[in-house]
Amino acid sequence: MKSEIQKFFKGEVEDDEDTLQKYSHDASLLEVRPKLVLFPKDSEDVKNLVKWVGENKSRYPDLSITPRCAGTDMSGGAIGESIILDFTRYMNKLIGGPLPIDEVQNNISKKKNNPEGKRASYGAGQKFRNYPLVPSYITVQPGMFYRDFEKITLGKGLILPCYTASKSINAMGGMFGNNSAGERTLKYGKTEDYILSTKVIFADGVERTIKPFPLNEISEKEEMYKKICDLIKQNEEEIKLAKPKVHKNSAGYYVWNVIQNNIFDLNKLLVGSQGTLGIVTEITFKIIPNNKYSKLVAIFMNDLSPLGRLVDEILEYSPETLEAYDDKTMKLAVKFFPDFLKNKGLIAMTRFAWSFLPEFLMTINGGFPKLILLAEFAGDNDKIVNDKCVKLVEKIKDFRLKVHITKNQAEADKYWDIRRESFALLRKHIKGMRTAPFIDDIIVRPEFLPKFLPELNLILSKYDLLYTLAGHAGDGNFHIIPLMDFSRKDTTKIIIELGKKVYDLVMKYQGSITAEHNDGLIRTPFLEKMYGENIIKIFTEIKKIFDSKNIFNPGKKIPTEHMGGTKEYIAMHIAVEHDARHAV
Ligand SMILES: Cc1cc2nc3c(=O)[nH]c(=O)nc-3n(C[C@H](O)[C@H](O)[C@H](O)COP(=O)(O)OP(=O)(O)OC[C@H]3O[C@@H](n4cnc5c(N)ncnc54)[C@H](O)[C@@H]3O)c2cc1C
Repeated sequence: MKSEIQKFFKGEVEDDEDTLQKYSHDASLLEVRPKLVLFPKDSEDVKNLVKWVGENKSRYPDLSITPRCAGTDMSGGAIGESIILDFTRYMNKLIGGPLPIDEVQNNISKKKNNPEGKRASYGAGQKFRNYPLVPSYITVQPGMFYRDFEKITLGKGLILPCYTASKSINAMGGMFGNNSAGERTLKYGKTEDYILSTKVIFADGVERTIKPFPLNEISEKEEMYKKICDLIKQNEEEIKLAKPKVHKNSAGYYVWNVIQNNIFDLNKLLVGSQGTLGIVTEITFKIIPNNKYSKLVAIFMNDLSPLGRLVDEILEYSPETLEAYDDKTMKLAVKFFPDFLKNKGLIAMTRFAWSFLPEFLMTINGGFPKLILLAEFAGDNDKIVNDKCVKLVEKIKDFRLKVHITKNQAEADKYWDIRRESFALLRKHIKGMRTAPFIDDIIVRPEFLPKFLPELNLILSKYDLLYTLAGHAGDGNFHIIPLMDFSRKDTTKIIIELGKKVYDLVMKYQGSITAEHNDGLIRTPFLEKMYGENIIKIFTEIKKIFDSKNIFNPGKKIPTEHMGGTKEYIAMHIAVEHDARHAV
């Protein structure tokens, strides 16, 4: 296989032990060993590979391609048994922008008035002009890391606000593949809301530009568009009823927004499809002006019963973010405090350490609150922002909670670091145990939280697990990450059993099994529980329309017999040993 591919593939084709070991993992608890890892040089490589795989599928029945960027997927979405296609080595470049969006829209009229096309030809690598800060676009290859992307956008005062907590390690194609989201999603939405257009290579090996168009033009389009359009229209009522009643959802194929206001946008379906329908080779994102000033209100809760009402009241003030973490996360943060000092300069380090004093005192007094809520407000100047914080504090004073408005950036950083690092803290420190993300991304509407959280804690308390709970309180999305000893015989049983119990509870409160981390191998077996048989049939039909030979990332979204998507497959692929060198 390797030598056949090397005849047409310009990038590297690797199958040494170290590479195969490394690519057997993503940030999930699973291990699936690939046969080859490929690093495409350009779109031509990807097209040729897809064509070759399609043509040779009957000769090698297990042949498939799992597209991969940074491999930080927590669901097993970025691992597979056949070919892994890694975009981060070469296909990681800026293609164009940032440029104001009206530049694109007005391009044609401007060209007419400006025959030399000066502004229209303004692209990557050239110095950005003094444009006013307005929504802009930027086009990148999928393998560009978010940290590099952010340097470009923040440098222009712009941001992609759906960035993840993994923003220092993930890449743009993975955000597209998972329809990722983060702390600012509450106000600004998910990745799906920032995709203007893409280039995608489908199962026939052809690269197409995908962008929205008026629905009445569908008859002029290719078969694939018409089939998806018909499928959605024929099942309109069923699809509408199946939509989870939550603020965000990454489970299954995202069929709800493909047709909206007489516009047909296939990207709404491709985003979040985990590379199971096609491979994205270029993404044009919308980016928006970043906030100049921001401030946090930290709210400490000992009793969770008023949580639903409190969240509602806070949301009335339209915060940028409303995040939360529990007492266990805070205890870990105090215990492993030196970790937070890394990468901070001496002055910042001293300020930061000083800001931790209240937490140290809480440790001595044993008085950790059960949950800490962080409401962030932003605006164009410090006074506006401070006024918003003060108004909120005034409004919620009847709850009689301890509330604190942060005084400076170091203090705000402390809260943010604890929130963002909660998962990493667990991963790094407890010997003989590993983090086990499998109920890591549940979501229910915030009004259900006061009932939902105690029921959830009751289920978890039946198992002897150390876990942290942190997440996006504003939309009721919580990340539960237990620590488990993978050498124990009952670990697999617990993972399957607990997954089922927690997802039953999520269904009882009409939530979703994944708000942002997606299905992958770990949640695909539970999709039928969430959506029912008929919606699964629609998902299966979608897969067939795009990928009838099942060459793209099998076992994710649609269960297969041998390549994932079942509970048995999970049980067989739990990574008992995990070489720390390969941890994501
Ligand atoms: C510590 C930590 C914190 C995290 N926090 C968040 C969070 O706040 N929010 C969140 O949403 N997620 C979070 N995640 C999960 C993960 O980081 C994100 O989903 C991330 O965007 C994935 O990016 P990646 O580059 O690592 O993608 P990968 O893991 O490489 O891939 C993700 C998926 O996209 C598919 N894919 C990759 N490239 C392509 C392509 N070119 N074409 C089509 N499909 C492709 C893959 O097949 C896979 O299914 C977190 C993970 C960790 C480890």
